[in-house]
Amino acid sequence: MDRFCPKCGSKGKTLIKNLCETCFWDERIRHIPNNLIVKLCRSCLSYLQGKKWIRIRKKDPNSVALEGTIIELQRNIKIPKDTKILNIEGSVTEWNKSGLPKKVVLDVTLASEGASSSLKRDATVEYLTCDFCQSVASGKYEALVQIRGEGGQLSEESRKTIESSIDRFYRNVLKDRSDITEIKEKDGGIDIKFLTSSKARLFAKKLSEITGADLKESAKMMGTDRMTGKKHYRTTISVKLPALEPGDLVSFKERIFKVLGHHRGKLILEDVEDHKRRSLSQKAMTDVTKIDKADIKRVGIGIRSGGTVTILDLEEKRFLELPSEKISSDLREGDVGLLINLNGKEKVIRRQ
Ligand SMILES: [Zn+2]
Ligand SMILES: [Zn+2]
Repeated sequence: MDRFCPKCGSKGKTLIKNLCETCFWDERIRHIPNNLIVKLCRSCLSYLQGKKWIRIRKKDPNSVALEGTIIELQRNIKIPKDTKILNIEGSVTEWNKSGLPKKVVLDVTLASEGASSSLKRDATVEYLTCDFCQSVASGKYEALVQIRGEGGQLSEESRKTIESSIDRFYRNVLKDRSDITEIKEKDGGIDIKFLTSSKARLFAKKLSEITGADLKESAKMMGTDRMTGKKHYRTTISVKLPALEPGDLVSFKERIFKVLGHHRGKLILEDVEDHKRRSLSQKAMTDVTKIDKADIKRVGIGIRSGGTVTILDLEEKRFLELPSEKISSDLREGDVGLLINLNGKEKVIRRQ
């Protein structure tokens, strides 16, 4: 007796798992969804997977739409265990007026019981605005980082440091998704708004490591969500940059140092005479005094005779005589040095 397909009744066909080839594949193909809806954010092209916005790491909208469609298909597929997806490829076939992908067609290849079959599935791409882009557009933020200098004003040097820290934070931490919603000038300093407190904290910590800035955090309750009962807080992190900057001259234990910078909360100094480096803890920093510009004069080094050296005050054009131990040993006749008044004691060092 001829074997026949119990589903469609056809006779004389090769049966796979008791079904004719057509019915066998129909059984499998019907679990592969068609007319999929793929939701993307119109401004950042994030893809809405279930209730969660996820970032697809592809540059152009066509690749994002295709990738989103493939993920959407795979999420909704329910094929029997004996069947495998061999390959999925596809392309965008229609675009909307803004030039964004509107229709995607996929070619799906299945394999089962040593045979394979291909089918087409299509998807429509819809555009919404993701939570993140909505927050940015409405100016919402969770944390504010306030950067101020000594006396409120930020110096040029500090501004450069802050700018490069922001750049680095974008590159290394935020990658292609920005958590920073606003950067603006405020009271001689800079205010940066962050969508999340965790990123704000991380940024403030990095800035503090580079600059030695003091951090203070405070939180203010903004209200309670009526639906969830969850309290909303806004965090403010105040970042106070220290008065000392690279290049500044300071005195510490009766010696003169040049500030090289800050590293992991420590102040790095270089002795202007022997060029040895020191790193000072927060506690030791209290003994460091910045040398006022008014106490520094440019001088020309003159002749050494006996125990004294003649120097020329280049600003006031007058000659002075100083004991040679007050002149740094690396200064020669004809050099330009700096005459520093250190609490009434004079010292001439090489120009920095
Ligand atoms: Zn059949
Ligand atoms: Zn978005």
